[in-house]
Amino acid sequence: MRTNFHTHTYRCNHAWGTEEDYVLEAIKNGLFVLGFSDHGPFPDRDFGLRMQYDELADYVGTINELKERFADRLKIYSGLEIEYHKKYNDYYDFLLKEGGLDYLVLGQHNYTDSYGDIRYISSFSGTEDYPEYAESVAEAIESGFFKIAAHPDIFYKNPFAWDENCEKAADIIIAAAERNKICLEVNANGFRRGKSYFPDGMRFQYPVDRFWKKVRGKNINVTVGSDCHTAEQLWDHHIDAVYKYCKDLRLNIIYDIFSKENDL
Ligand SMILES: [Zn+2]
Ligand SMILES: [Zn+2]
Repeated sequence: MRTNFHTHTYRCNHAWGTEEDYVLEAIKNGLFVLGFSDHGPFPDRDFGLRMQYDELADYVGTINELKERFADRLKIYSGLEIEYHKKYNDYYDFLLKEGGLDYLVLGQHNYTDSYGDIRYISSFSGTEDYPEYAESVAEAIESGFFKIAAHPDIFYKNPFAWDENCEKAADIIIAAAERNKICLEVNANGFRRGKSYFPDGMRFQYPVDRFWKKVRGKNINVTVGSDCHTAEQLWDHHIDAVYKYCKDLRLNIIYDIFSKENDL
């Protein structure tokens, strides 16, 4: 059963294609479910590379129109990929209720550190930053607003060797996921970028084997996210490779995050 819950559109200003382009591509590739998760705006702050807050209603309205028009061919959901900070709790609540969104995907591309500074995952100076970042992901997972934690291993793309901080960060995130029954996503963009050199050897920036081997055997559902930024990427050959990766690791893959059958 082919599905995807991690889909971007032209609205984030670094992806291409309208919502309809992705719907048509999904139908062409035999998808059963398509979930949109473009980068979510915040009402009071522009983190860049995303739609403006005043464009949100048009995004949701466009998806709602497509839901009706293609109802006999594809199940469509509206979502956003967005960072978590507790000061926005009312906002996440608003998005899921009055905002009309079906789900939120956690995309923790930045977080607020203990000094109140915004830190981006690509700006870490060493692995000593990892546990604090992982705590921000765990806090997001505990909030209950998110169905999926996208690329929960993305911070390992920084050029550092695996050490006890890496280990600790993985344990923090995986324990929170298991406690809260959130889906962890293996993200195809890491495969698209290919392997690169790290001080302890060649590997993908993400997914990171050591992280996912810890997920194996836990009571955690895993979803494969295309994270497509062009319609052609929605089901490219990398998706099949990611499914094989998950199967080889014996992860508990689920296809439809809304199916009650997958409840843990
Ligand atoms: Zn992301
Ligand atoms: Zn994404």
